[in-house]
Amino acid sequence: MIIIMKPNASDEAVQKVTRIIQSKGLQPHLSKGDQVTIVGVVGDKSKLHGSNIEISEGVDKIVNVTESYKLVNKKFHPEDSTISVGSTAIGPGNVTVMAGPCAIESREQLMETAAAVKKAGASFLRGGAYKPRTSPYSFQGLEEEGLKYMKEAREATGLNVICEVTSAHAIEAAVKYVDMLQIGARNMQNFELLKEAGKSGVPVLLKRGLSATIDEWLNAAEYIISEGNPNIVLCERGIRTYETSTRNTLDISAVPVIRAKSHLPVIVDPSHATGVRAYVEPLAKAAVAAGADGLMIEVHPCPSCALSDGPQSLTFEQFETLMDGLRPFAGLMGRSM
Ligand code: PEP
Ligand code: MN
Repeated sequence: MIIIMKPNASDEAVQKVTRIIQSKGLQPHLSKGDQVTIVGVVGDKSKLHGSNIEISEGVDKIVNVTESYKLVNKKFHPEDSTISVGSTAIGPGNVTVMAGPCAIESREQLMETAAAVKKAGASFLRGGAYKPRTSPYSFQGLEEEGLKYMKEAREATGLNVICEVTSAHAIEAAVKYVDMLQIGARNMQNFELLKEAGKSGVPVLLKRGLSATIDEWLNAAEYIISEGNPNIVLCERGIRTYETSTRNTLDISAVPVIRAKSHLPVIVDPSHATGVRAYVEPLAKAAVAAGADGLMIEVHPCPSCALSDGPQSLTFEQFETLMDGLRPFAGLMGRSM
């Protein structure tokens, strides 16, 4: 439930409400907006029976939050959140671009790509060190060696770096080298992994599962935040449908739907959504026009030589052209890039 305070409620009145909540063994979650303060409560609200909280000074009304996700719910926190990673602010006002190869293949490949995406204006280098491949015989990633190259690329370029983690062991290794953890589509409902990512406190990019509804995705985010880690960014990367012309179907409506249901930032990955290089640019523009807070795009020095996802990867030149073409779209949306 949420307790909505009157616009003129004093700090003392808010404190009194939070004290009542704590005295019942519950935890208050304060959201102080420009207009109004909201106090959210997660847990057994029957404990508040008889507390007369509804007639406490400064209380306007009490609203039940019927959704099973609470802390990521927009009702708990009406203002859009900004997630800071290094000097990058992911959220309103910006289009944050994360770019790089599907998989880290070698030191040279990564360093070369880092310099190119930095030059084109990306603020994150992406690259997989642990690859969740459909076939166990496909390239599985360089693991910790790859993470070391990521750290080196960060030091050389100043880019933030993000890597997917597929196990608790991978989280333990990754937190030593990267700025943000990625939980991939295939692990979106790996609840133990979500809890470990929550405990790490490191910012997390949570991709939507291949067949997950938006509510299932938000519940997955709730697993992370309920472990005390509010630094979550969501990523729409296409869902499974009957359409075979593209690898997945980009659910562009997820952007405004997330905006309505949650305060968390949401970015779009047009590379995995389409699986086709030529479709990346139009869908990147559509994502920005729909209000996405950023993009994740695969870039490779030689897409035809890539060990994974070559057909959807852009060359350096194509990526630079895409970035130049996107800036006016970001401007129209009141965002900088
Ligand atoms: C990736 O980003 O490399 C990846 C595997 O994406 P997804 O989890 O969206 O398939
Ligand atoms: Mn990929």
